[in-house]
Amino acid sequence: MVRDSLRAFIREEVYPHEDTVYAAGDVAPEIEEAIRAKSLDLGFWNAHFPEDVGGGGIDNVTYALMSQELGVTTWGLISCIMGGSLILCACTEDQRAVYLDPVVRGEKLDCFALTEPGAGSDAMSIRTRARRDGDDWVITGQKHFISNADRADFAVVFAVTGENETPRGKRSRITAFLVDKGTKGFVVEPGSNPIGNPGHNVNNLYFDECRVPSSQILGEEGTGFDVAGEWLVPGRVMVAANCCGKARRALDMSLEWAASRKQFGQTIGRFQGVSFKLADMETELQAAEWLTYDAAWRLDQGTLSDADAAMAKLYASEMLGRVTDEAVQVHGGMGMMSDFPIGRLWRDARIERIWEGTSEVQRHIISRSILRPLEAS
Ligand SMILES: Cc1cc2nc3c(=O)[nH]c(=O)nc-3n(C[C@H](O)[C@H](O)[C@H](O)COP(=O)(O)OP(=O)(O)OC[C@H]3O[C@@H](n4cnc5c(N)ncnc54)[C@H](O)[C@@H]3O)c2cc1C
Repeated sequence: MVRDSLRAFIREEVYPHEDTVYAAGDVAPEIEEAIRAKSLDLGFWNAHFPEDVGGGGIDNVTYALMSQELGVTTWGLISCIMGGSLILCACTEDQRAVYLDPVVRGEKLDCFALTEPGAGSDAMSIRTRARRDGDDWVITGQKHFISNADRADFAVVFAVTGENETPRGKRSRITAFLVDKGTKGFVVEPGSNPIGNPGHNVNNLYFDECRVPSSQILGEEGTGFDVAGEWLVPGRVMVAANCCGKARRALDMSLEWAASRKQFGQTIGRFQGVSFKLADMETELQAAEWLTYDAAWRLDQGTLSDADAAMAKLYASEMLGRVTDEAVQVHGGMGMMSDFPIGRLWRDARIERIWEGTSEVQRHIISRSILRPLEAS
């Protein structure tokens, strides 16, 4: 029921804006506000947050079904329908009133600031630092590629606050801070233009002796990656679900095209060269869906491993690349037109193999989990 009502909402309230958004390369504030207001009314905006913080309290299988529906369009529009990082559930009671509650109510937007010019896949090598000064922390450094920081009211910022001795040598102690826009020493500037997903802008964040009180640490000092990990691993399952949704739209359009486009006196779906592509697309998509639903179900059971999430994200995002590429092929020249959804889906799909851990990072996680029991990793 939730999936069907979200699907209808996207068809009625979101698709009509797609042409405008893709042509403009951004989501106009009035479109953003109108979609968010309706989404809040219908309970989609915060459905993924637990009930005790004012959210919809859906289980993760339902969340995956919703994420699948959301995947059909640009991330610029997806971000208007459902928002807020679950990482904010780590807020203390005092932090809740300022950060979590307004996000759940759709009054404030957050962004997640980990990546730096010198630290992407190797997130442990971030160089943004926070030094203690009395009851404050003073942050200095730079982040890049930060999604939605232009629209956000505050950022969850990861900074090095010291070093830990570990059996494998010294490791940075990393802490997450809640930093409000407008704090002295914190500047947000537009980053480069991504090639897909209009309206989902990336930004550069600069911290120059930016002072925040210790009450704005999210979680405990030194536990930034534990806090992030709790959110990032389930997040990968939802990225897998988004990929399945986008692939389903590309496949549905390809089926309709193959059943109606005529060449050589017959519909192109009658040519085995086309119909076998469609068969492979459907098979791969269903395989990705089941891997994703299984991961979401394991998340609900409390048995999801990092490797389960990595396999779902890896397979679904790579499946999406293959399916959207074949969708372009089935559509021929029409697949290359930027005012037609197929070319947009193909372009928007590419990011899914890069963010939330690249395909190579997912393969590391999976291979470690199967080799480690043999002491071979
Ligand atoms: C549109 C967009 C939005 C983003 N939004 C955010 C955001 O909101 N917040 C945020 O913090 N970050 C964000 N990111 C950053 C994103 O998470 C990183 O781009 C991603 O983690 C990869 O890091 P990198 O770009 O530095 O690539 P690199 O880490 O430099 O990787 C380059 C290549 O080397 C490979 N590689 C690296 N290490 C290994 C290894 N050990 N073994 C094998 N291969 C390896 C990678 O897989 C990749 O193919 C965003 C990025 C983009 C493009």
